[in-house]
Amino acid sequence: MYGLIEELYPICRSITGDGLRSTLRRIQQEIPIEIREVPTGTPVFDWTVPREWNIRDAYIKNAAGERVVDFRRSNLHVVNYSVPIRGRMPLAELKPHLHTLPDRPDWIPYRTSYYKEAWGFCLSQRQLDALPDGEYEVMIDSSLEDGNLSYGEYLLPGEYRDEILISCHSCHPSLCNDNLSGIAVAVHLARELADQPHRYSYRFLFIPGTIGAITWLSLNEDAIARIKHGLVLAGVGDPGRFCYKKSRRGDAEIDRAAIHVLEKSAHPFEIAEFSPYGYDERQYCSPGINLPVGRFSRTPHGTFPEYHTSADNLDFVRPEALAQSFAICRKILGLLENNQTYQNQNPKCEPQLGKRGLYRAIGGQADAGAREMAMLWVLNLSYGNHSLLDIAERSKLDFDAIEFAARTLRDHELLKECKQAAA
Ligand SMILES: [Zn+2]
Repeated sequence: MYGLIEELYPICRSITGDGLRSTLRRIQQEIPIEIREVPTGTPVFDWTVPREWNIRDAYIKNAAGERVVDFRRSNLHVVNYSVPIRGRMPLAELKPHLHTLPDRPDWIPYRTSYYKEAWGFCLSQRQLDALPDGEYEVMIDSSLEDGNLSYGEYLLPGEYRDEILISCHSCHPSLCNDNLSGIAVAVHLARELADQPHRYSYRFLFIPGTIGAITWLSLNEDAIARIKHGLVLAGVGDPGRFCYKKSRRGDAEIDRAAIHVLEKSAHPFEIAEFSPYGYDERQYCSPGINLPVGRFSRTPHGTFPEYHTSADNLDFVRPEALAQSFAICRKILGLLENNQTYQNQNPKCEPQLGKRGLYRAIGGQADAGAREMAMLWVLNLSYGNHSLLDIAERSKLDFDAIEFAARTLRDHELLKECKQAAA
């Protein structure tokens, strides 16, 4: 995952254009995504697919002709979606177009102007302070033309037509935690799931933030009903504690699954209530869509100083943090896969577990063992209306222990699976 981030880091991505496209092509080498192209001008709900932005070079040159701000050194130096400009101007005239972070004087901010035609440069406060008054040559060799909005989509079929959606934004230039970490974890989840039996179908989306989710939802309204659970993955590579943000519904199975897995993990975490701000959960959880989609992150966006700056770089994202995020996601998906509802085949009083070798032979201890407790809970609540997650929550036992007990009881014909999902 870290290796993929290293490869994608230098690319100048945006919500449209060749940087996004080459990112999708690199993902295609890992998993068989379809790259979709939606033409400029396509109406998507209340929005319109914008013109396509591409950039080749940009700089500010001083009187000696030296590049004092150089796009080739960092693609963050140009305000993303800047219109082309070529000219000479005094520093005073240039300054309104320059963006810095005075309290982080070595970092370059990340700024965008997608929906308002503008141009600008981002630089460190130290770079700005070093610029003497005088004339500067300004050049942004970009284009904003009719083209396409690109996104990547991979549908991994399972036993059920019901789907789990995994969505991540893929539109930020050289920023690691914000966009690349989600891409890396999603790609590797897709690879692992493709190699293993799974009941659900999985739909992976690699889309530009906001406009990409709006575009996908607008063009795929008939597919929305098949999405039973979903996760937006963003900011999963920093070493901070986990944060799961609930779906708008607040009590969806994905919400409960994520909370259960985090509670039973050894990692610090927080649970955030839904709010209509953040990443693409905003679109998936808009009232007319209202999908059970939560957001899985580590330190939430906007709450770490590196957010949207050049310090969200290859040092900020750690391989071990990615690995932990991957493992938690895998567990959440595993829980959804195994969250069956069973029917007790012997509901009148407890079945005699001892004669089946399922209960310890020596009685008299004060407590039943953990394994026995899990079986007793499963037998007691499996009456066609409690899923294994319901039972895990009520018993406060780990889902894995409940699931193991259910499998054991099923193998002894004491439980029968109730069919729920549409095959
Ligand atoms: Zn961002």
